[in-house]
Amino acid sequence: MDSYDAVVVGGSVAGCTAARMLASAGARVALVERSPDPDHYKTVCTHYIQPSATPTIERLGLAPLIEERGAVHNSIEVWSPYTGWIRPFSEAPYGYNITRRMLDPMLRKLAADTPGVDYMPGQTVVGLRGNGRVSGVEIEDGSRGRCSLDARLVVAADGRDSRMAELAGVPGRVRPHRRFFYWAYWSGIEPGNTRSRMWFMEPDCAYTFPNEDGLTLVLAGPHENRLPEFRADLEGAYSRYIAALPGAPDLSGAKRESKLLGKLKLPNVMRPAAARGMAFVGDAALASDPLWGVGCGWAFQSAEWLADCVGAALGSGADLDSGLRSYRKVHRRRLGLHHFLIADLSTARKANPFERRMYEAAAQDPVAFAAFEAVGARRRSPLTMLSPRVLAHVLRPQKVR
Ligand SMILES: Cc1cc2nc3c(=O)[nH]c(=O)nc-3n(C[C@H](O)[C@H](O)[C@H](O)COP(=O)(O)OP(=O)(O)OC[C@H]3O[C@@H](n4cnc5c(N)ncnc54)[C@H](O)[C@@H]3O)c2cc1C
Repeated sequence: MDSYDAVVVGGSVAGCTAARMLASAGARVALVERSPDPDHYKTVCTHYIQPSATPTIERLGLAPLIEERGAVHNSIEVWSPYTGWIRPFSEAPYGYNITRRMLDPMLRKLAADTPGVDYMPGQTVVGLRGNGRVSGVEIEDGSRGRCSLDARLVVAADGRDSRMAELAGVPGRVRPHRRFFYWAYWSGIEPGNTRSRMWFMEPDCAYTFPNEDGLTLVLAGPHENRLPEFRADLEGAYSRYIAALPGAPDLSGAKRESKLLGKLKLPNVMRPAAARGMAFVGDAALASDPLWGVGCGWAFQSAEWLADCVGAALGSGADLDSGLRSYRKVHRRRLGLHHFLIADLSTARKANPFERRMYEAAAQDPVAFAAFEAVGARRRSPLTMLSPRVLAHVLRPQKVR
């Protein structure tokens, strides 16, 4: 049995970030990843990374690497039935559009090359050690050989359907999600645009995200009532759906470069970010509706908050509990309200009167737009919309369209 300061389970966005940052704080870290392939990447993701995560990406040393590969500085225009297009009035802090095919291997290499990190590919965590408090993991390799890793801290970074949470008996709170997603990658879309677009219709949604490889991801996010139509004729339903969008992208001269990818069930799940002496980061802690492109950003950020809360204690051998309590609180304070509102919108309900005013104001008033953008980019709390200055602009009469 090997002994570490921390065992991080899952070598994707959250796990690689946590491993690198904990090791940089002086901890000896095992990074355990089920896939044996260091170039493995997540295919079920549309990889719009919110600006809220850019400082973390820079701190990791990842920003220059993805910039070199052409990662797109993202910004977005949003279409609502109350306003038509809501377009940026000025430049705002950017996030990144970068395919997971490019991102995941680069981030994994960065983590694996960090002094203090032992990267263990092809190892699946199948059990937890400890009585009450988790003190290590049981791992299994591809030929079913088993061994144990002992650790002062176990970090679950194993994604949306976290097996670690199940093993630890830490259930998540599930909120329903009433849309499903199909998407594909295209070249030659007109009008060519480096800006991302989102159609937030009621109840259907869609988005187009340009990427570093010159391909644009085009996603249909219909209400669940339309599932039979897509089941009956997937190709036809997808094409008709995109063609019917207001200001639809012109696909007539474009080429589809991938098959249609889909995800039908996307429940919103949140669990305490620390419990039983272990920590949860990324989707293992919080899996929100992907429509708002928050998952990767929050995976980077939650791993950073964890490292900031426990890194020093982990490296020095001091008690971890107060750091874990702080991490749990920070996670809840920073993401709880965002998640609650995202989950509420994922029921595909109609906008309430305040939200309509907010869309109308964001389309016409730079101050209202700046607040709308900062909340949507997850750089600011949703409470920003209720600050007296912003509220005055949102409630001011707007021109009738
Ligand atoms: C349809 C869809 C679209 C999305 N679009 C976006 C978007 O545009 N922007 C955005 O920011 N987010 C998006 N997301 C969310 C984003 O993909 C996730 O939030 C992000 O991948 C979470 O990263 P993670 O590291 O927490 O987990 P994951 O990326 O899921 O990684 C988990 C890792 O753990 C490993 N693992 C699992 N179990 C074990 C085990 N027992 N032992 C060892 N290893 C294990 C897996 O192999 C995997 O490598 C989307 C999600 C979906 C479903």
